[in-house]
Amino acid sequence: MAEEVKEGKDFTLEADSELRFEIEDKDAKVYVMLISGFAEMFGTELVKKKKYEFRTGAKVAVFTYHGCVLNVNGKTDVSYISKETPMVQYLNCHAALEQMRASAEEKDERGPIAMVVGPLDVGKSTLCRIFLNYAVRLGRRPLYADIDVGQGAISIPGGLLVSKLTDSFSWSGLLVSKKEFSQKPLLVYHFGHKSPGSNNVLYKSTVSKMAEVTLESMNVNKRTKYSGIILNTCGWVKGDGYAHLLHTAQAFEVNAIFVLDQERLYNELLRDMPSFVRVVLLPKSGGVVERSRDLRNEQRDLRIKEYFYGHRTPFYPFSFEVKFQDLKLYKIGAPPLPDSCMPIGMKAEDNKTKVVAVTPSPSLLHHILAISFAETTDEDVIGTNVAGFVCVTDVDMERQTITVLSPQPRPLPNNVLLLSELQFMDIV
Ligand code: ATP
Repeated sequence: MAEEVKEGKDFTLEADSELRFEIEDKDAKVYVMLISGFAEMFGTELVKKKKYEFRTGAKVAVFTYHGCVLNVNGKTDVSYISKETPMVQYLNCHAALEQMRASAEEKDERGPIAMVVGPLDVGKSTLCRIFLNYAVRLGRRPLYADIDVGQGAISIPGGLLVSKLTDSFSWSGLLVSKKEFSQKPLLVYHFGHKSPGSNNVLYKSTVSKMAEVTLESMNVNKRTKYSGIILNTCGWVKGDGYAHLLHTAQAFEVNAIFVLDQERLYNELLRDMPSFVRVVLLPKSGGVVERSRDLRNEQRDLRIKEYFYGHRTPFYPFSFEVKFQDLKLYKIGAPPLPDSCMPIGMKAEDNKTKVVAVTPSPSLLHHILAISFAETTDEDVIGTNVAGFVCVTDVDMERQTITVLSPQPRPLPNNVLLLSELQFMDIV
């Protein structure tokens, strides 16, 4: 039952408890204000008397270590105070990461490279966010790497991303529809599918390349080097999904793994990881909301929409035509052929990372295209990061043009474009 809070309602929270609420009603807005005490939202400290606005779809927890009074104004669908939260355990893990950073600083080594793993809907992205916020509050500048191509917390679906954190780190600020391609504190790679399983070989090689570049980049800045990396992963933890986790841990030279809510996965990792990797099992928060397949699809669409149109700060994307002749359009991965049909010296697997030219056709409609930094296909297209994304909103076969929705006005920063399986209907 929806609960109407007209003039605002005060909630008094004891130490180590949290207020959880969800907003489902379309166009609903809820305002939260910290009246007294101390409180934080997923690691971000709330400023007293400041109004925080939440909109439809928000699933929020405001936690307090010391006790506080919160005022909530607006219509929430669920709102309750919970005293059962794993926050103290999460804080202890942050303290352990901080120790690793301090020791890295002393020895001039790389800081913690911490990977967060677990099945779907256990709060992996939320835990990463808490770790990052706590680190930033202490003046650290860890990198955030997100290889969850389906439900990444901040990257566009189908992409993998590494982000640098700035002084004023804000999670939603990282929802980076880089307003312009040139504003990019980020390294983004194109994968082009919703799940790593759609092309395991390509996923693996993209992760390898991303890890190599990220680790190398850490040597450039001492502060980043000691602060380390927080790495968010997919909820696919069985079979090939597990193999990807092992490969990712190896590629990123991970030295700490936080396993949320699955003892089996924890034991497998304890068995398979070298002894220098600390593997820690953590409970999931009872507040984490499970998402249906439909909701996941909806959220994926929303992420793409936010890429072009912004979240809180509205962005105004551009729409323009590009001639077929000005496009160098490719997709990665050719249909599988048996080994016997492959040229000498090549395996069927190689086809999975083959860069294949695509002739523009009406089937491009609504597809996302990644703009590669590669000048030609002679370069390592898979291993080259992308400048950003556009969406095809029209294909005119007569005039031999496509129309694209783009965060930046024409011209495109490069004409090597990579086709993604992901589609977006631009209905605002
Ligand atoms: P996926 O498997 O899809 O990657 P995940 O494991 O990363 O999911 P999250 O995205 O972190 O899960 O959390 C799912 C949802 O639960 C998010 O909307 C988040 O805001 C919400 N959530 C997380 N922790 C809490 C909490 N303590 N109280 C209320 N909501 C929460």
